[in-house]
Amino acid sequence: MARRISIFGATGSIGQSTIDLIARDPDAYEVVALSGGRNIAQLAKDAMKLRAQVAVTADENRLTELREALVGSDVQAAAGRQALIEAASRSADWVMSAIVGAAGLEPGLRALQTGATLALANKESLVCAGPLIMRTAQAHGTHILPVDSEHSAVFQALIGEDLAAVERIIITASGGAFRDWPLEDLAKATPAQAATHPNWDMGQRITIDSASMFNKALELIETKEYFGVSPDKIETVVHPESMVHALVGFNDGALMAHVGAPDMRHAIGFALHYPHRKPLPVERLDLVKLGQMSFRNPCETRWPALRLAREVMQAGGLMGAVFNAAKERALDAFIAEQISFPAMAEVVEQVLSDLSYFEGHNPAEITLDKVAEADHLARMRADEIMAR
Ligand code: NDP
Ligand code: MG
Repeated sequence: MARRISIFGATGSIGQSTIDLIARDPDAYEVVALSGGRNIAQLAKDAMKLRAQVAVTADENRLTELREALVGSDVQAAAGRQALIEAASRSADWVMSAIVGAAGLEPGLRALQTGATLALANKESLVCAGPLIMRTAQAHGTHILPVDSEHSAVFQALIGEDLAAVERIIITASGGAFRDWPLEDLAKATPAQAATHPNWDMGQRITIDSASMFNKALELIETKEYFGVSPDKIETVVHPESMVHALVGFNDGALMAHVGAPDMRHAIGFALHYPHRKPLPVERLDLVKLGQMSFRNPCETRWPALRLAREVMQAGGLMGAVFNAAKERALDAFIAEQISFPAMAEVVEQVLSDLSYFEGHNPAEITLDKVAEADHLARMRADEIMAR
């Protein structure tokens, strides 16, 4: 029987890689919903190709455009935030959560509430509302499969293992565009320079977050929330070749590493076929050609986001939501060339300090409303700081 699947964020980098995989075996899948934002042409094209039940744009002003693009097909058109949430509430077996930012939280949560397996690329969901996401999955007897390459790697290294024997989890970082830049040049870095990645081909926002290591900061928090390990067991190392995605260290000294070409179709395909492995169209590594791999400690002067992530993990409560929201606003401002590259971390640090009263919240009492409030106040505070 065909598996019913939905893809939220279908027009993005992860969404397109997911579509690439399912389009290779169309009879195996029945597409329920595809969502996008501004890229209506891509959304309509894929929805027709995959014969989706519904195509949703999150932008309510683009309904007519979407309807016109779908003329002659059976695909239903819908637009706006409410339509997106409604689409996520439709029953499916497997749902890809690949919207960028905190906007991806609620659709993923709704999908879990229907009992669907959630392939989670949207790391912001776990950063903003880890306890809520994990307990919703548990309450509905469903699984969350990590799609972030590092977390997919850790997940794979842990199969058949005892979590109690884990001494440390090491996630790797390429270092992004400015890894080897002189520190004093960072103040002059432009959004276009930050949006080029040495190894991975990803969306604009996550690529810039790789250069600032806000991406790795989010991933440290994601590791804590998903695997339930204490922050002192989670490390990151700079690994410029991006071939080792993560390592798990056990109490007998063994390190299990996941090694593979930097291609997100690996982690997406793993989540799609889990618990089985199926052939994937990804490059097979030639270790001899690769020759060597290197690792070094990340410098926290260059990447203060890593220090901030540790503070956020210690603080707990709703500080993850505050951190992510402040980061999103600072990133918007950097992309709009209103603030410098290093100023992003300064803004986020100031917001964390001003909103530290979100620390105390009991994880068991974190709700969507409370996350939305922390998110909203953090965005406002970030805007106030940047206006000065
Ligand atoms: P992209 O920017 O390429 O795509 C984002 C998707 O979300 C697009 O479909 C976009 O629509 C849609 N979108 C944007 N804003 C909104 C909104 N406010 N409401 C609803 N939909 C919206 O992002 P990526 O694919 O790079 O990343 C997606 C997620 O996956 C992120 O959380 C990222 O951190 C995570 N991730 C990505 C990796 C990668 O390799 N790219 C690796 C690991 C994790 P449109 O483009 O039509 O406007
Ligand atoms: Mg990653």
